[in-house]
Amino acid sequence: MTAPSAPPAPSPAPGSVRHSSRIRLSRAAVKNNFSFVRQKVGPHPVISSVVKANAYGHGIATYVPLAERAGVRHFAVASSFEAQEVLAVCRPDSRIMIMGILYDADLPWAIRNGIEFFVFDLPRLRKAAAVAREVGKAAVVHLEVETGGNRTGLPEKDWGSAFATLKNHADALRFEGLCTHFAGIETLANQFRIRKQVAAFEAASSRALKAKVQPRLRHAACSAAALGFPETTYDLVRIGTTQYGMWPSPDIYNLHLTQVGKNHDSPLQRVLTWETDVMHLKRVPKGEFVGYGTAYQAPGDMTVAVLPIGYSNGYPRALSNRGQVLVRGRKASIVGLVNMNVFMVDVTNVPGVEIGDPVVLVGRQKNAVIGLRSFSDFSHSLNTEFMSRLPAAIPRTVGK
Ligand SMILES: *Cc1c(COP(=O)(O)O)cnc(C)c1O
Repeated sequence: MTAPSAPPAPSPAPGSVRHSSRIRLSRAAVKNNFSFVRQKVGPHPVISSVVKANAYGHGIATYVPLAERAGVRHFAVASSFEAQEVLAVCRPDSRIMIMGILYDADLPWAIRNGIEFFVFDLPRLRKAAAVAREVGKAAVVHLEVETGGNRTGLPEKDWGSAFATLKNHADALRFEGLCTHFAGIETLANQFRIRKQVAAFEAASSRALKAKVQPRLRHAACSAAALGFPETTYDLVRIGTTQYGMWPSPDIYNLHLTQVGKNHDSPLQRVLTWETDVMHLKRVPKGEFVGYGTAYQAPGDMTVAVLPIGYSNGYPRALSNRGQVLVRGRKASIVGLVNMNVFMVDVTNVPGVEIGDPVVLVGRQKNAVIGLRSFSDFSHSLNTEFMSRLPAAIPRTVGK
């Protein structure tokens, strides 16, 4: 008889083995960035923190409490799914607003939980009133009007009916907001379009006034509008990019410099640091190729560090042969292709590199920085598209 085989070793509890990278959020940077926004928009407007796309990759569960510590009590998301993620971690007195997809099936959930939502067609407005009656609680709606962006937005021909519906169902529909979204206010060359949008939004406001339905709040501004155009801030500003420490565009940064009369200023602080470690070191003789194919050929004898990160971990494949990371406080360039879960960097001129050395993918190490910009500049920074794709599975922690 054979001895019974030993039971398999229990698997480690979730979270007890290390992920291949980690993200750290700076509490002080969040506080600083919201103070800057507050200073720009003045005391009146509500600041809504836009945390769609997992808080632009920062992680909703970690980021929302940080924003609350900085005084924020209003959050905007793109979907009911994200609203649920915020609801799970936010304070009971924080508001949540869905700017995008909310399925009919989820309407009772949203209304019951007091989740606010954009309405941009008449059937949704009527449906919201009906569901609100069933649930026994008023639906909190933001009427998003079409002003020329031609994305979502209630067309002008329907404004009259919408106002009438809001008036006739005042018990079931709370008219929380009248709003719009600008189509590219971060670019000064686009101002002719923005001016038309502001005029159309003002027209919608007047129509509401005439129809004797008053929204509690009017809002239109994203980061660029809030920072650059005081006439667009109304009663609430929807701040995404800026709270994470990035300028919406070079135009808006330059506008700020003009406003403050300086030729350099850095009032915003990057919130996110992304780190991994050196997994392996390799000597590569002159003339050999590094990694797949012939993308990189060693011009001389070199030392290459292998990192346990690839495009499946959110690192852009477009940075093959061009991105940089920080090792021992120095910049090291990517050599060869970014693979699915590995890429290589040249550490030939970084003295003393060892396996296990921390590697900064985004952030500061000693005096060197890999920055973030919402506009791309591949040589020194990564952008919002890449950040919003950082996998939710990477652990997020909070630091000073
Ligand atoms: C994403 C978004 C914002 C925030 O934009 P930022 O430029 O990142 O500040 C505001 N409003 C709407 C409707 C959005 O979709």
